[in-house]
Amino acid sequence: MSVATLTGGGAPSIWGAAHDVDARRPRSLQTQLGASDTVCGRRAAYIVHGWTPTDHADKRAAILGTFVHHGLLESARTEYRWLVERSVQDDLIRGHVDVVQLDEATAGRLPARHRPAVPADVLTVEDVKTKSTYLWDRVLRYGATAAELRQVLLYAGALYEVGFEDVPGQRYLSRLGPLDIGRVRFRFINRDNGAEHVQEIDFDPRRAAEARWWVERVRETGNPEEMPRDFDGPGLDAICDYCPFRTRCWPGAAPGVPEQTALIHNDADREQALADYVKGHELSSEGNRIKAFARKKLDQSPAGIYGPNKLSWRGGNDEEKDDVEAMVDLHEIADIPVPMRPDADRMVKNLRAAGLPVPRRKTGKKTPRVINIGPA
Ligand code: SF4
Repeated sequence: MSVATLTGGGAPSIWGAAHDVDARRPRSLQTQLGASDTVCGRRAAYIVHGWTPTDHADKRAAILGTFVHHGLLESARTEYRWLVERSVQDDLIRGHVDVVQLDEATAGRLPARHRPAVPADVLTVEDVKTKSTYLWDRVLRYGATAAELRQVLLYAGALYEVGFEDVPGQRYLSRLGPLDIGRVRFRFINRDNGAEHVQEIDFDPRRAAEARWWVERVRETGNPEEMPRDFDGPGLDAICDYCPFRTRCWPGAAPGVPEQTALIHNDADREQALADYVKGHELSSEGNRIKAFARKKLDQSPAGIYGPNKLSWRGGNDEEKDDVEAMVDLHEIADIPVPMRPDADRMVKNLRAAGLPVPRRKTGKKTPRVINIGPA
């Protein structure tokens, strides 16, 4: 990444520096599978098999997340004396656990200066995730995704089976051996307004074993492209839009043609895609019917919290639009010429009313292709 990227004013963009720093982070240099790479089976397989990334997406949002993340963890370390960014490694994965908050019994096995200011009631492994406002409602409603759960379970599983990695700087932690994990915790931080949402789950070694099985399946794959894609591809899933293997995973589409067309090889594939389309249409029609019915029923309900959902209303104010006549008057008073731009809609009406053809010319662009499916 070049540091010479220039802003409009000619000054170097500060993002050049931020990208360079990010590229030197141990996580960026690591070629082993990290738990955060397990978001998609195929992506994990590309990494396990050492394939070279083909795409370099805009990382600015991710870098901002890293800065917020680092600041919060550092504060938790100095103020709460939580264990932050400590490394774990087992035979499958390597990575850094965001936070481990020791319980009293485990903390008692460490020198006093390494104990947390307030021990947890049970030993807790925490993952801090920064999210944008755009995703916040989803976070509150559904909590961690399956991939996020898998990630924290892999770390917690490694601590449960092995303990902290035996490396300089944390040998005193590795001497604790396997840890009796009681809970995993997600701490979501809204990076636009600082809102915080915590989700806690009892640690279940069987769920950690499932996460390990997922990684084992990836490692057993002979060729990464035998692994199914876990997402629907560029333009449909943001994970794919920003995936470093996007072009490798979805090759060959001509410019302007959706990458997903590569999935249609024959008429049997077309038959299946048409059946999927019809099924999707039926589901969305039914969904729209349920929504429209519920909306009508709720029309006079006051704002408030009802069970798991919060109702609020927007709008209902007097609508305003530009007052053309008043603007013309003001132009005349201020001696500003009134714009006399031709009004295409009015001219079309005039010509039609006069029985004259409306002239048309090609714009050089194509109209969108609209799919049309009916019974055979
Ligand atoms: S492009 Fe999407 S489906 Fe393919 S490896 Fe990346 S995340 Fe997975």
